[in-house]
Amino acid sequence: MDCPVCKNAMITLELTEVEIDYCTDCSGIWLDTGELKLLLGDPEKAIHLLNSFKIDPSCTEKPRKCPICLKKMQKIIVGHAAPPLLIDKCSKGDGLWFDKGELSHIFNRAQLDKDSKIQKLLADIFGSKQNN
Ligand SMILES: [Zn+2]
Ligand SMILES: [Zn+2]
Repeated sequence: MDCPVCKNAMITLELTEVEIDYCTDCSGIWLDTGELKLLLGDPEKAIHLLNSFKIDPSCTEKPRKCPICLKKMQKIIVGHAAPPLLIDKCSKGDGLWFDKGELSHIFNRAQLDKDSKIQKLLADIFGSKQNN
């Protein structure tokens, strides 16, 4: 699978329950739809987070292509806090693309426990200092 930003081949990181695709060049992360729920580990928070996704019709950023179906992805606003956080989502539901730092940002906003899987995962990938 190629990175939608730099087009380089991504590496697969194998975790206990999920595999995520990670670009070593831009530090972007691709998650298949079901993997986000698994990573969150808390169904209620996962649903809350997914329900907060809104398509941003006014976004002027260049659309990226889904690494699976190669169709243009939608820009999605996550949550209600300012400034808005935008991620890319496959309109067919293949998955989500997170630029560097966006995933940890979202999980911070979702107010997960510090020892949640995703925080541990991000610490493993990027080192323990996650400031985003
Ligand atoms: Zn990349
Ligand atoms: Zn797709």
